[in-house]
Formats: sequence, C-alpha cells, structure tokens
Amino acid sequence: MNKKQKRMLIRIGVSAALFAVGLLPPLPVWAKAAVFAAAYLIIGYDVLLKAVRGAGNGRLLDENFLMAVATFGAIAIAIAEKSGNFSEAVAVMLFYQIGEFFQSYAVRKSRKNIAALMDIRPDSANVEQNGALVKVSPDEVAVGTVITVLPGEKVPLDGTVVEGSGTLDVSPLTGESLPREVAVGDAVYSGSVNQSGLLKIQTTKSFGESTVAKILELVENSGARKSQSEAFISRFARVYTPVVCGGALVLAVAPPLLRQFALGLAPDWGDWVYRALTFLVISCPCALVISIPLSFFAGLGGASREGILIKGSNYLEALSKTKTLVFDKTGTLTKGIFEVNGIHHNTIEQAKLLEYAALAESSSGHPIAKSILAAYGREPDRSRLGAMEERSGRGVVAVVDGVTVAAGNERLMEELGVPFTHCHDVGTVVHLALNGQYAGHILISDTEKPHAKEAVAALKAAGVEKTVMLTGDVRAVAEYVGNKLGIDEIHSELLPAEKVDHVESLLSRQAPGAKLAFVGDGINDAPVLARADIGVAMGAMGSDAAIEAADVVLMDDDPLKLAKAVKISRKCLGIVKQNIVFAIGVKVLCLVLGAAGIANMWLAIFADVGVMVLAVLNAIRALRVKKL
Ligand code: ADP
Ligand code: MG
Repeated sequence: MNKKQKRMLIRIGVSAALFAVGLLPPLPVWAKAAVFAAAYLIIGYDVLLKAVRGAGNGRLLDENFLMAVATFGAIAIAIAEKSGNFSEAVAVMLFYQIGEFFQSYAVRKSRKNIAALMDIRPDSANVEQNGALVKVSPDEVAVGTVITVLPGEKVPLDGTVVEGSGTLDVSPLTGESLPREVAVGDAVYSGSVNQSGLLKIQTTKSFGESTVAKILELVENSGARKSQSEAFISRFARVYTPVVCGGALVLAVAPPLLRQFALGLAPDWGDWVYRALTFLVISCPCALVISIPLSFFAGLGGASREGILIKGSNYLEALSKTKTLVFDKTGTLTKGIFEVNGIHHNTIEQAKLLEYAALAESSSGHPIAKSILAAYGREPDRSRLGAMEERSGRGVVAVVDGVTVAAGNERLMEELGVPFTHCHDVGTVVHLALNGQYAGHILISDTEKPHAKEAVAALKAAGVEKTVMLTGDVRAVAEYVGNKLGIDEIHSELLPAEKVDHVESLLSRQAPGAKLAFVGDGINDAPVLARADIGVAMGAMGSDAAIEAADVVLMDDDPLKLAKAVKISRKCLGIVKQNIVFAIGVKVLCLVLGAAGIANMWLAIFADVGVMVLAVLNAIRALRVKKL
C-alpha cells in the first residue's frame, strides 16, 4: 500500500465514524447537519474538486461530475425538508470512494504481480579488470566483452559461453520450467538465471539489443495498443453518459408536470428529483471502464508468464478469433537444424565442394547455411571471400577465391541457366555451380520439432479451422512433413513474394471477423509476418527483424505455445464479455428500478460497487493460464 492509499484509508475511516455519529438519533438538527457535512467534505472534497476541474475542461459528464451532482441533489432535498439528514449524500460518496480505493488497490496489485513476473532486468555485470571481478552496469558493457556470471546470478547480456558449464533457469523468459544445460559454444540469453556453475560469457549484443531489454520494452508498450473491446467502451461511454443525463433530467421534470397539469395531482417534486438523482448515481459505468483494460492487462501478463509475448491487447483479441493458421516450415515446424546427409560431386572432390559451399554461405543467416558451416567444421577464412549476394528463397551467389560460387535450389540453377542433375533422394538439395559450371549438390534434411504434430492438433481443438503450410522448400519434403504433421493445405517451392500472395488470397477468402495468423522465423518470411492479421515470430531462433515485425513472439520457439496463446486469448476475451454483459445487465436493471422508485440511492451505489468488485475479481482470473 502506498502513501496515497493509506491516506485514503484514514479518510474512509474518519468519514465512516462521523457518519455513524450522525445516524445516532439524539442530536439537534443543526448538529446532525454539521457532522454529516464534515463527513461529506472529508470523504468527497477531491471528487468535488475534480468535478469542478473536469467541468472547466469541458468534461461535464465524467463520473466525478455525476457523483457531485447526485450528492448535491441529495443535500438540497435534505435542506428543503429541514431534516439536516445528509446521510444519503455521505453514503454515496463513501461507497464511491471505497470502490475507487478497492479498484486502485487491485490495479496496483495486479500490475505489481506482472512486474514481478517481469523482474528480469539485471542490475549488474561482472567484468574482470586487472584480475579482479568488477561489477558494472550492463549498459556499459561493450559487445565482445567477456563477463562472468556466478551461480545464482542473472545473465545480464546475450552472449556465447566461452568457459565453464552449468544449468540455466530460463523460465523467466520462456515459461519453460526444465533447466537448460549450457556448455562452451552455447548461446545464452539475458534474463535467464544461472543455477549452478561459473560461466564466462562473451557478449554478442549490447544491453539495449539484448533479449531482456526487448522483452521489457514489449511489455511496457503493450498497454498502449487498445483493443476493439476497449475502444467499444470509450465509444459506449460517449453515447451512454449524455443519454443517461438526459434521461435523469426528463425523469425529474416530466412526471411532476404531468401529474400537476394533466392528472390534477400533487406534483411530488421531491420524490421525482430524488429518483432522477438515484438514476444518475446508478448510471456511472465504473465497473466496465475499469475491468476491461484490467482483463486485457491480466491476459497479457498471464501469457508473458508462459513465454508468449503479445504486443498489445488488440492482438490478444485478434488471436481469439483466429480461424486460419499459416505456418512457415523451416525453423517453425521443423527445427531448422539441417544435417548434411550426402555430398554428390561431379567435377571436384567432396571436401572441396563442401568448402566452396561453406565459404559461399558464411555470411548467410539461413538455417541451411548454418548447417553447411557446421558440416564444414572449421572457421571459414573470410579473406578468401569476395562479393556475396543472398537470393531469398533460392540461395546465395558469392565470389570465393575469385570463383563465382552459386549455392541454392533448382530455381537458382534455372535462373543462372546452369543445367543440373536431379537428386532422387528425399531431402532438401543445395546445388552448387562454380563459374556457371555445375559441380554437384549437397543433400540435407531437417527434422520436425518435438511438439509440432501435437501443436497442430491442439490448435484444431482450440478452434482453428484451417492449417496451411507455406514453404520455399521442395515439394517432396514439404508434403512429407506437412502430411506427417496433419496440415490441411501445403504449398511448396515458394519465393517470399509468393508466400505473401498466398496469404492475401487466404485473407480474401476468410469469413468476416475471422483472423489469420502467420507463424514464421522471419528468415525469408518477414513480409508475410507483417501482412497477416497476426504475425507470430519465433523468439529464440528468429531474426531480430522478425521479432520487430511480429505481433506475438514465442520465446522458446515451441509451436505448442501457439495453441496456448489462442486458448489464453479465448479465456481473456470470454472474461471481457462476461464483464460487459454482467455490468450492463445489472446497470440496466438498477436504472429501471431507480426510475420506478424501487431502488434508492443506497442500493444503487451498493450495486455499483458490488458489480465493480466482482468484475475486477473476474478480470484478475485472466492472469491464471497455467493449466490451459
Ligand atoms: P522456408 O519457407 O521453408 O522457411 P525458405 O524460404 O527460407 O524456406 O527457403 C526456401 C528454399 O530456398 C530452401 O529450401 C533452399 O532450397 C533455398 N535457400 C534459401 N536460402 C538458402 C541458402 N542460404 N543456401 C542454400 N539454399 C537456400
Ligand atoms: Mg523460413
């Protein structure tokens, strides 16, 4: 609890005590009035000030204004009756403030919960200077520095292990509870916690570019993107408030006039003005205004706890309507770690072929390039490398030792006009041409991710109607993998631009309101990521560009998290809808009862606070997603 909340609690206590004194019968009217007035001002002075300030700024119809008008009305009635009984006005303010207090407490608490989840910001990095370890701020560490991470410490910056081994707790990043073993050569991400072992890590990124900084930035900005539901609430309030105020005015004026002039009865002004004031108090849409953003906030927090970063509540909402899921193959459904299965050479010897391929690929970020370099097994000598050009979806063309080396698929060979031999084995084939002469090919293959098949099934179970795979790989491989995983539609041998065309045609065939999500690793598919309704990127394997372009990032590259993301979004939107229906339902009921003179102001304010408390509690449920 902060200072402001403590002060509020004291005000509530003092005002409630005075309120009780005022209710005790044996007091002269003037004393009663004084006690109630004190109680009213103590609890309500800030609401009155805000109402005046709001009115000054042209915001005549906000909740503070409603409260001020309603309570002034109640006081005016009490003065007219000469009873000095301002209890109604005090009660309304008191309940209103208790509700506000509860709300700020709940919001703070859930924000704190989420902040604690996101407590991954490292405080310092240990750098060795003159034989001693010195703690420095992570943002002062230059890329390439070797830092030491002691057991129990957070990894402050992304890097590669250069000495030591140990186990890392990666759950703050990915939600994955199993610790990860790391040894020399492994990449480590900032935000994970070193559980055992002393690690020396050579940093590969500055703090601002590190995983941890990216995550924090995403989470901090996620609130800024408003969902349709939230936009609905502000639109709703804009229409609702004037309608209710108009209704109250009519209720105060029309029936008495009608009674007096049409029916010849006593006008009963007091009764009708009171009803109108009650109507005003009831009308305050606090529960909705508060609980909807809070539900989204909790949903985003719950997802990030599971290693699913959603960049805004609009994407959470869109995810819940996902009917079509489009996958990239390499790095998304498959591990993206190819193994070289064969080298079929024509003109030169095998080792030489592999060397040319490795050197040509040495600057490419494609999983194929990485695996060829792994098969080569040595650090490529970059001084032998001349110009290099990546042809996305096809391969690379590079100058090595003055020889123009083309490494890529059949399409690349066709483009270059190089006749090639077909390979009869199933797998991805990297053809090689040296100075325009065909030199043979390397056969590589990739394996599916362990949860890929489960993920496709789980998505179907979560309500996704159609799964599609778009890949640049050859047809045989695409169909083999796609059929094995149970994908509905498979399109292969696509260039990045053709992937966009496919997504556009899928988008145009979609039912209204349905959403399409594309999942990829960002290598050769960043344009599709941006084009889809929701772009989902793989966080660990994925390129930085993909993480920027994506709307949702899966921190541990597990496709099963996708189904989880959809389920989380459905749950969250379900809660939002429950709250909307519940709050509006109770409101309408109370408004009718108030107009009919059945509900008094007490009941009204009580119902309002009650609905709000329930709606807020319901909203917090969105945070709990572990068992989905
Ligand atoms: P996917 O859609 O499965 O992710 P890509 O669009 O990244 O595949 O690549 C499509 C195809 O282009 C690959 O299967 C490969 O044949 C070829 N290719 C792309 N980049 C390279 C590269 N660096 N070296 C060799 N071949 C490549
Ligand atoms: Mg790819």
